[in-house]
Amino acid sequence: MHVVVIGAGIAGASSAYFLARAGARVTVVDAGLHAASRVPSALINPVRGQSGGVDARALEGMAFTWALLRDLGAAGWAVPHGQTGVLRPIPDDRTRARFERNLPAALRHEWLAPADAPAPLAPGWAHALHLPEGGWLDGGALADALLGASGARVVRGRALDWTARTVTLAGAETLPAETLPTETLQADAVVFCGGSVGSAWRGEAGTHRMGTLLTLDRAVTGVPVSFGAYLAPAAVGGVLGATFETPAPTWAPEVLPLGSLGWLLGKGAALTGLRGARVTGHWTGSRLSGLCAGPQPDGSWRLSGLSSKGFLLGPLLAHELAGQVRASLDTPDPRPAG
Ligand SMILES: Cc1cc2nc3c(=O)[nH]c(=O)nc-3n(C[C@H](O)[C@H](O)[C@H](O)COP(=O)(O)OP(=O)(O)OC[C@H]3O[C@@H](n4cnc5c(N)ncnc54)[C@H](O)[C@@H]3O)c2cc1C
Repeated sequence: MHVVVIGAGIAGASSAYFLARAGARVTVVDAGLHAASRVPSALINPVRGQSGGVDARALEGMAFTWALLRDLGAAGWAVPHGQTGVLRPIPDDRTRARFERNLPAALRHEWLAPADAPAPLAPGWAHALHLPEGGWLDGGALADALLGASGARVVRGRALDWTARTVTLAGAETLPAETLPTETLQADAVVFCGGSVGSAWRGEAGTHRMGTLLTLDRAVTGVPVSFGAYLAPAAVGGVLGATFETPAPTWAPEVLPLGSLGWLLGKGAALTGLRGARVTGHWTGSRLSGLCAGPQPDGSWRLSGLSSKGFLLGPLLAHELAGQVRASLDTPDPRPAG
């Protein structure tokens, strides 16, 4: 069973890993450009945004991602992370009531006075919601570990087109270097995990959102703090970031407008104060909304549109997709050949 996965972000790398564990020989084609999954520090935060919404599969996804990190670590693929908990400062009683309505009974949480929070908050917050099972991880390191552990052959290049069983490439080279016999790969199944840029290259309509993380010389807090923007530890130092640019109908090259820089610094100061941390650089990425996971009308498969939950839900959904792909290949196709 040979499966070609297009895209090596968290969706594609997780798919490759679980397909390989399901017994497939996997080739990953990746353009190596514009992956949202290279985010230097991603939160594993089940309680989302400023509405406090909790995805129906958030608890399952969170437990799955942490278990995956443990499995990878045990196999020698260490991924920088911290299951430190996540702190959500809450501005007023009305917002707290909204969050409370959304919190599932099964989610461990505690409401704290801001003065008792595990990270020092700037003045002005009314409440603090502590989610002890959340945390942060290094996005690129997780995708790389999954890809490495999968044993997949990686082809660096762009998939121009694909069908249920072929992928046509442009400018392909393999890592390590190896001559490709042809620029059309044959497979028993093709899985598209192209994220924001891949959807735009495909000419699809969508909702794309850009955001930026400022990398900092040190973590401002040991526990990630998130409301509007987030401060979190990272493998090196810390980050202050958010996905906050105006949603757009297509992907566009990453930019950091000066106004966005000011906005981010203001959010960081309002969360905890910036405590003298220094900016060491910045990372900008684009994510795609509109989850799509499963078989496609053309016979290929797809996992995309992970929105702000790439690391919360991506591995879980990839595991399920890999199981579906495997099952479909184990079941003989009832359609007559040719
Ligand atoms: C600023 C910011 C902060 C975020 N914070 C968090 C967070 O705290 N927690 C969280 O869970 N999520 C977070 N996210 C969201 C998360 O990063 C995304 O949901 C996730 O990374 C999307 O993964 P993906 O694999 O679908 O796509 P990507 O990571 O974008 O990967 C797609 C890959 O496919 C390749 N590709 C595309 N088309 C082709 C083609 N035709 N041929 C070959 N290769 C192709 C691209 O080059 C790219 O490498 C954040 C996103 C941003 C932008």
